[in-house]
Amino acid sequence: MNFIPEIERFLKARHFKSVSPLAALIDMDGTLYDSMGNHADAWLRMVTELGIEATRDEFFMYEGRTGASTINIIFRRAYGRDATPEEIEELYHRKTVYFAEMPPVKPMPGAKEMLDTLIRTGIKRVLVTGSGQSSLINRLDTDFPGAFSSVLRVTSRSVTHGKPHPEPFIRAMQLAGAKPSQCIAIENAPLGVKSASDAGVFTIAVTTGPIPRKEMENTGAAVIFPSMEECASQLHILLYQLLTTSQS
Ligand code: MG
Repeated sequence: MNFIPEIERFLKARHFKSVSPLAALIDMDGTLYDSMGNHADAWLRMVTELGIEATRDEFFMYEGRTGASTINIIFRRAYGRDATPEEIEELYHRKTVYFAEMPPVKPMPGAKEMLDTLIRTGIKRVLVTGSGQSSLINRLDTDFPGAFSSVLRVTSRSVTHGKPHPEPFIRAMQLAGAKPSQCIAIENAPLGVKSASDAGVFTIAVTTGPIPRKEMENTGAAVIFPSMEECASQLHILLYQLLTTSQS
């Protein structure tokens, strides 16, 4: 595939001469793990029990937000106020319990192959997740051996502002010792795409759920793939074209 028009558009918009990837900043839920359906089901169950109306799809749109931020969106709509810290703690705990009761989450098809390409090409992998749920973070070493060094991980505990704020990706670049023009980001959620793109990073969006492609364009994705398998099969071509395309 030819990604040069997308690359040139990105370079022009950012006033970058080129992008030479040293590090890939990679989201977890919905990107490495096929976990978003379970998250959406757990959120919907918790919110429905409160007697608040919600749709399953809306939780895909909130993906990347902290649990507190999602609860506040629901509370403002239903009660016209933010949740108290006690309510947030109790309700997020309940959602976490429901998530843990769901069938086990599987690695996203194509994620291993995508990571293998990065490992083979010597590009550092940095995890950038809004999640603080250890159930998945602890599985990374088993499901993707050697892909993520224990020091190259940004989780909800590492940042003050979660996605869509750019802080998680800025933190990831600091850990990798790389500038925006030396990174790519891989994300599946519009708010994650916005966070990475606002941090100045060439952002690859992968639509692995019900979110329309348009949402990824609107939040600043440089390239969009319809699946992680497609992303994995094209990644080496995209990396080559990034390295060989420059703007004068
Ligand atoms: Mg995600």
